[in-house]
Amino acid sequence: MAKFIGAHTSAAGGVFNAPANAAKIGAQAFALFTKNQRQWVAKDLETEVIDKFKRALDDAGILPKHVLPHDSYLINLGHPEIEKRDKSFNAFIDEVQRCELLGLDRLNFHPGSHLKKIPIDECLDAIAENMNRTLDQTTGVSLVMENTAGQGSNLGWQFEHLAHIIDKIEDKTRVGVCLDTCHMFTAGYDIRTKEAYDISMGQFENLVGFKYLMGMHLNDSKPDLGSHVDRHDSIGVGKIGLDAFRFIMNDERIDDIPMVLETIDETIWDKEIKLLYSLQD
Ligand SMILES: [Zn+2]
Ligand SMILES: [Zn+2]
Repeated sequence: MAKFIGAHTSAAGGVFNAPANAAKIGAQAFALFTKNQRQWVAKDLETEVIDKFKRALDDAGILPKHVLPHDSYLINLGHPEIEKRDKSFNAFIDEVQRCELLGLDRLNFHPGSHLKKIPIDECLDAIAENMNRTLDQTTGVSLVMENTAGQGSNLGWQFEHLAHIIDKIEDKTRVGVCLDTCHMFTAGYDIRTKEAYDISMGQFENLVGFKYLMGMHLNDSKPDLGSHVDRHDSIGVGKIGLDAFRFIMNDERIDDIPMVLETIDETIWDKEIKLLYSLQD
């Protein structure tokens, strides 16, 4: 099987609880926060915690490359104010090092926001610069930018933004992209019919390239196409509908990466995972 589906599972009580929470719902991949996502600092990961996590991952039968940790929501690598940008950079390095310690090879993050204070290009350049600094000071972890809905001043909603950043990254072996279906759709990329899917994914291939695709977030959308509002819905019941997920599940360009549900009703994640697998031809 070439598709690895899971959900953003709880790490309450310790990161080592996430793999079992994933296994419980039939997941073959998962996402997690390696620290409280609403706080700037966390205590260091202890050796015992790291060992427990690695054992739990092994027990769950999930490979490190199918785990997609997500960084803190507070981090903005493109912050218009230097002091706050540096604060974000320091927190980001810590996030990457935590992944490194846990034996994980990728970190998912939102590129950043210009907060209407600096031009888009300047913000994208700042993000790329902080990514280069991070890559210089760490090893083994790829930086996986997520496309956004373009809500407020969040960048990364246009494939051109992601391409702009990748172009400026010195070590292109450690940069990647995570495509969120809800964000794609509300950013204006239609995927509801095969025709629309082929056009939107064709744009992704031309501007970014599937070789950079290192993860996906599978979410349906409450808001309409192009609304730039970020509100997820359960698979098949939102404005995107089930067909798009059928195209994804049968798209070979999306093999062997973590595909993670961030849908709103976690009590049906097990059913959604089964449903997604059932869409494969
Ligand atoms: Zn997402
Ligand atoms: Zn979202």
